[in-house]
Amino acid sequence: MINEHVGRDVPEDWGYDGGCSFCRIIAKELPSAVLYETDEVVAILDILPLRPGHTLVIPKVHISHVTDLPADIAAATGAAVSKVGKAVSEGKSTRGLRRATGATGV
Ligand SMILES: [Zn+2]
Repeated sequence: MINEHVGRDVPEDWGYDGGCSFCRIIAKELPSAVLYETDEVVAILDILPLRPGHTLVIPKVHISHVTDLPADIAAATGAAVSKVGKAVSEGKSTRGLRRATGATGV
């Protein structure tokens, strides 16, 4: 577990509700901000981000343990993590803002 998750205040209704929240997001039963989607995975913004751009890449099949992930879905997830991670990093780049505003320097 990432230490920054320990002791965080989260809404009370985030507890177990008899279903998998990620499956409900994929089924569009719960709202989400989708950044990327394929037949195998979906990438959404975290609703309680640790940092700007904090994104979750979720397989569209319900998997309780990462060790149960089929190889083809693991590959699709890895490819999505790489693609989305690069896009989010580029989107957060201050260099891009500086270019857009004409500022110089770093
Ligand atoms: Zn699920």
